[in-house]
Amino acid sequence: MRRILQFFILVVCLSGWLFFSCNQTKYLYKQNESFENFKKLFIESIWKNNPDWALVMGNHEYDERLEIPSKENRIRKLDVYKSLSDSLNKYDWKKITPENSIDARIMMNFLEAYNWSCYELKSFEWNPAEYNVGEGFDLILGNSKVSLEKRLKIINERLRYVPEYYIVAKANIHKPTKEHTELAILQNKGSLEILQKNIPDSINSSKLSSVEKTEINKQLTQAISSMNEYIQYLTEMQTSMMLDSSASRSFRLGKVLYEKKFRFEMQSCFSVDEIFQKAQDHKTEIHAEMLNYTKKLWSKYFGSAPVPNGLIAVKMMIDTLSRQHCVADSFIATIKKQIPELEAFIKQKNLLSIDANKPLQVRKTPMYMRGGGAGASINSPGPYDKNANTYYNVTPLDGYTPDEAESYLREYNNWILQILNIHEAIPGHYAQLVYSNKVNDLIKSVFQNNSMIEGWAVYGERMMLEEGYGNNSSEMWLMYYKWHLRSTLNTILDYSVQCKNMSKEEAIKLLTEEGFQTAAEAEGKWHRATLTQTQLCCYFNGYTEIYSLREDQKKKLGNDFSLNKFHEQFLSYGSVPVKYIWEMMSK
Ligand code: ZN
Ligand code: ZN
Repeated sequence: MRRILQFFILVVCLSGWLFFSCNQTKYLYKQNESFENFKKLFIESIWKNNPDWALVMGNHEYDERLEIPSKENRIRKLDVYKSLSDSLNKYDWKKITPENSIDARIMMNFLEAYNWSCYELKSFEWNPAEYNVGEGFDLILGNSKVSLEKRLKIINERLRYVPEYYIVAKANIHKPTKEHTELAILQNKGSLEILQKNIPDSINSSKLSSVEKTEINKQLTQAISSMNEYIQYLTEMQTSMMLDSSASRSFRLGKVLYEKKFRFEMQSCFSVDEIFQKAQDHKTEIHAEMLNYTKKLWSKYFGSAPVPNGLIAVKMMIDTLSRQHCVADSFIATIKKQIPELEAFIKQKNLLSIDANKPLQVRKTPMYMRGGGAGASINSPGPYDKNANTYYNVTPLDGYTPDEAESYLREYNNWILQILNIHEAIPGHYAQLVYSNKVNDLIKSVFQNNSMIEGWAVYGERMMLEEGYGNNSSEMWLMYYKWHLRSTLNTILDYSVQCKNMSKEEAIKLLTEEGFQTAAEAEGKWHRATLTQTQLCCYFNGYTEIYSLREDQKKKLGNDFSLNKFHEQFLSYGSVPVKYIWEMMSK
């Protein structure tokens, strides 16, 4: 009897407490419901004003329209964004849930970044590669959810905007950089194929009437000539830039703009200067570790030969180890075989759980996606296509000459290939994606933080080795450090080139002598450093943030710290800036 009574009291207490806490949430976060509605309006407004971006994100509602990049368009958008920002500021961010307060800050960052790009960065003046209609048409053509005839009708509508688009583009350009002008010519030429071949082929195989076919072909001819005129315009500009240095500007952003761009893009816990200093220190630490492992391995590979002084010994060791690699024919099969092994290791060590109802599919990179230089990448479904498969694209080596294949396979030797799989698949990008997709929040999936995503993959590499993956062998650690050095040097390179006038010669020296990179890799990296700004930092920045957060949690939680719990909690917030995850985890 007493037991039953107690039971009743307990039930009453429990439901009373639940009722109270529900009410308390409602009371504490009383603007939350209204904020949820605002988020929907916000996203709708973003798509309406950025039809091209919507298309890239898999929202096909505005496919008929091509955004004209005119000054009027920028002013109109600034107006819309101003009113969005006013509405956002009307909310008391303490009266919405902590998850939504993260969204509020992500949304505000986006609006402020746009404002800054219009008034200060102004890349629409100096980066002619911003103008290219190819991708949009390609994406519409590839949208197999819609009949081919419907797609072609949409393309017909969209083609009407192309002549005006390129007229406005030419008017926008003022003192471009030589590097971005060259890129614009190259990429627009590449896009011509879509208009000259892919679309005509589709028209021919479609069931459109001959009147419709004539109409779209007429539009197509006009669009192609607009594109050609743009390419011609840029080519003439290149000539005048060679004759007159005042016709172009440097690709180097300079510290003031760089610092702000870093702030908007990384949304980092750290300042640019802090990250640069950390990268410098890290480079020194890595070199010391590499020397250690080289000395440990020396007699195994070089017998009694004397160890040369400094980093030359490390380079010799790396070159020797790199000869151990799979054969070209088995490249994809080797990757396929490693995925379940990584999964088993994660399980055995209880590092995190991956309950994937959509397992990762390893496949040959589709033809239309090749040529970007990346040998392996994760192809993840967008926020409007969450149920699509996740692919691990691996480019087969059949197109390579034997020398090229050998050089590629040495780069992705027995050890580095495993680290690549950790990065791309498990516990890297693929595993993170499974968690990120569970967060049902459009703001978080549209405005993903790249530094968090790349940082997680880079963190995963180190964490796996720390947990004993690769049996703690010196070979594995040495190769890991070679790989890890790349993201560290990316940061040093980017900052030094953009803000400190580092010359090409200095850059190549840094990458080859201190990063053990081949001449070809270093050349490619230099090229990338002239075309992008701050992106090269996202790997090291994110890694540093996540590693620091983990060490901070270890210190705070002491014996209660569990790696598994840390990973699962960390990933549960979605692909948001690490500083917000830090804030949530510190609560
Ligand atoms: Zn070989
Ligand atoms: Zn990555």
